[in-house]
Amino acid sequence: MKMNAKVVEALNAQINNELTASYAYLSMAAFFDSVSLPGFATWFRAHAQEEIEHGMRIYDYLVRRDLRVELKGIDTPQLDYGTPAKALATALEMEKTVTGQIHALFELAHAEKEYPTLTMLNWFLEEQIEEEDTFRDMVEKVEAAGDNRWHMLTLDAQVGGRGKED
Ligand code: MG
Repeated sequence: MKMNAKVVEALNAQINNELTASYAYLSMAAFFDSVSLPGFATWFRAHAQEEIEHGMRIYDYLVRRDLRVELKGIDTPQLDYGTPAKALATALEMEKTVTGQIHALFELAHAEKEYPTLTMLNWFLEEQIEEEDTFRDMVEKVEAAGDNRWHMLTLDAQVGGRGKED
C-alpha cells in the first residue's frame, strides 16, 4: 500500500531531527572536552552515535517501504553551554522536544491510517522514555556534584566508564 505523502514528509523530517540531535550531542562532547571532563565527552559522543542510529532506523524503514529518503540541511549547533549542569539540562530539554516530535508523528500516522508506521514508531516511544530517564538521572548527578571540582572529576571518571572498581 502506498504511504500517505504527509507521513513520508514527516518521517524524512524526523531523520533530520535525529541527526540534528546527534550534532548537538557532538557539540556538547566538544564542550565537555573543552572544560577537561573527558568522561562526559565520551558519554556525549556515544549519544551522538545513538542519534545517528535513530535516524538510520527511519531511513531504513523508508527504503523498505520503497520510498525516497530526502536529506535536509542541519543547522550550526550551540557552541557554548555555560556549565556542565546547564549542558545536561539543555540535553534533557532536547530529549523532551524529540519525545514531542515522535508523539506528533505517531498522531499523524494514526490520523492517516498508516498502521505499519505506528508499529515502527512504537520502538521510538519506548526509547524516548529511556532517553528522558537517562538524562534526568545525569542532571541529578551533576546537580549533586555542584561547584565542587573534585566531585565533578570523580563523576566524570564514572561516566566515562573508568573508576568503576573504586
Ligand atoms: Mg533519538
